[in-house]
Amino acid sequence: MAENKKYFKLPETDDGTILFNVPFPKDLGQLKDMAPIIIKQPYHIDYLHSYGQDSPFFAGLANGKLLSNKCPKCGYTYGTPRLHCMYCGTECDWIELPREGFIHCFTVCHYGSEAFLPETPFVLIMVEWPGVDTLFLARLVGVDPADASIDWIGMKVRAQFRRNSKFTPTDVYFVPA
Ligand SMILES: [Zn+2]
Repeated sequence: MAENKKYFKLPETDDGTILFNVPFPKDLGQLKDMAPIIIKQPYHIDYLHSYGQDSPFFAGLANGKLLSNKCPKCGYTYGTPRLHCMYCGTECDWIELPREGFIHCFTVCHYGSEAFLPETPFVLIMVEWPGVDTLFLARLVGVDPADASIDWIGMKVRAQFRRNSKFTPTDVYFVPA
């Protein structure tokens, strides 16, 4: 008979009655005791925007290449794309970064924006390469966030690319090399 218990309760969903007339007190003093109105509504926008000068970076990710820039004048080399040198203003050249780099620092994210919240906890790292003057922020996959250790600093990591590119910076992520 225990199995039949499930028939005594209807399934709950977040659908509900559509309300057109909201009960309202004659005495405005009662409004402070009013329960909050909670609205459920669909929300969708088509966000048309340009990656501008960073476009080659995303084209690189879609082709399994991690691209960045190097200044032809002063030689400053960027780990994150920057088409004009922040030191001398010269237009930079595109370069391909090595597939393997090292963890400069990391953090374990227990909270995140709406898109990433279901994936918490996850690990973010700043990747460094010898001869490259700035760092690159990316996800580190293949480690247990609960085992985060200072020993991870300096760990060799390897870039991986999504096969189906989403044309977002998360198209590239790193795994222990
Ligand atoms: Zn420069």
